[in-house]
Amino acid sequence: MTTKINPFENAMGQLEKALKYLKLEKWQIDRLRNPEKIISVNFPIKMDNGETKFFHGFRVQHNSARGPYKGGIRYHPQVDMDEVKALAFWMAIKCAVADIPMGGGKGGVEVDPKALSEKELERLSRAYARAIADDIGPYKDVPAPDVNTTPQIMKWMVDEYIKYKTNNKKQIAKKEKSILMGTFTGKPVDCGGSLGRTEATGRGGSFVLEALLAKMKLKGRCGKELTVAVQGFGNVGYYIAKFLHEMGMRIVALSDSKGAIVVKNMEKDGFNPDLVLKCKKEKGKLSSCYCVGSVCDLKYGRTMSNEELLELPVDILVPSALENQITGENAGRIKAKIIHEMANGPTTPEADVILHKKGIPVVPDVLSNSGGVTVSCFEWEQNLKGQHWTEKAVNAKLKQKMVKAFEAIWETAKREKTDLRTAAFIVAIKRIMGKT
Ligand code: GLU
Repeated sequence: MTTKINPFENAMGQLEKALKYLKLEKWQIDRLRNPEKIISVNFPIKMDNGETKFFHGFRVQHNSARGPYKGGIRYHPQVDMDEVKALAFWMAIKCAVADIPMGGGKGGVEVDPKALSEKELERLSRAYARAIADDIGPYKDVPAPDVNTTPQIMKWMVDEYIKYKTNNKKQIAKKEKSILMGTFTGKPVDCGGSLGRTEATGRGGSFVLEALLAKMKLKGRCGKELTVAVQGFGNVGYYIAKFLHEMGMRIVALSDSKGAIVVKNMEKDGFNPDLVLKCKKEKGKLSSCYCVGSVCDLKYGRTMSNEELLELPVDILVPSALENQITGENAGRIKAKIIHEMANGPTTPEADVILHKKGIPVVPDVLSNSGGVTVSCFEWEQNLKGQHWTEKAVNAKLKQKMVKAFEAIWETAKREKTDLRTAAFIVAIKRIMGKT
């Protein structure tokens, strides 16, 4: 619906707003506006039917002032350079918000991964890793999963990267291998990954929301639970729905790229995200998975479009899919009391203005979804030091980081009398510029 909106222009609009609160020199502003390096790669892949196809990919390294570039790799048919540039910029802000020693980067491959076989996906992932291999490394640039990329894909990529770097050497010292493994995060746990990484974005988001609700003193009204609509049911959407459900909130709507499911009675029903996921895996689609309590039955729900889901009268709206979902066009119709951005860039600057006027707080992506990169950073640290942390330790450290990040932003928003996104940018930019 909103393919014309340029995410990089939006990101620069957000930056402009924050710059009014900061005294920066021109070169510093230029540094924030321009990526340090843009890498564009093209490579052929042999398909299963013997045909060869040509693919395009990107890696944008936005800023390394605080540490190696950090950010995911996205597989999507519509991925383009402006999107990857915006996402890399947001990663630099996000890592500074989370106060981890990393900069911002992002990668993308223009491909529909759902149209590839497992073997084709592996060949594509290995070829992309090889194409960017000279520009990444544990102290240089550390990629991770993003939309449509998984721990398995990270496993192929890190394997290919290590082969490339060591000239296919059979025996590599354990320490050297562990450090090289730190080039990618979000790996499977049995292959150098960290416990808690898969759940981290959702879990971190639930900690941030809990902290916000405490500040706003917002609880369910008249003994009723808070209601939540989640757009997107990938890794991020599923886990945030699961954690909010476990916290006692009622998940009244869920969606995937094909459409949304909504409970029939918004006053009392709520989906069980675990059962919905199980059902989606069995049936291959979300649109007939109405799982309320412990049973899945069509009588519990109805379908609607992703656009309609955004306008439901819920307490908390959680966009967890792609950019540009809440725009100048539909922001006036949003009825949620809080928007908790788990996707990157779901709200445009025009929508931000409208929502602010309506008094709807938007918890910005660079804060609410920063749990993923935070545990990625823990994974990287474990690889560099050859350590393995327990899940309990990872989750405890994550909570500490998220609550601290939220507090800094909340205080800044109050002090500067601005919205949470602008406050997050102010905090992050000061950190990037070494001012705090
Ligand atoms: N793709 C995730 C994000 O947008 C995680 C990045 C990472 O772990 O490096 O935050």
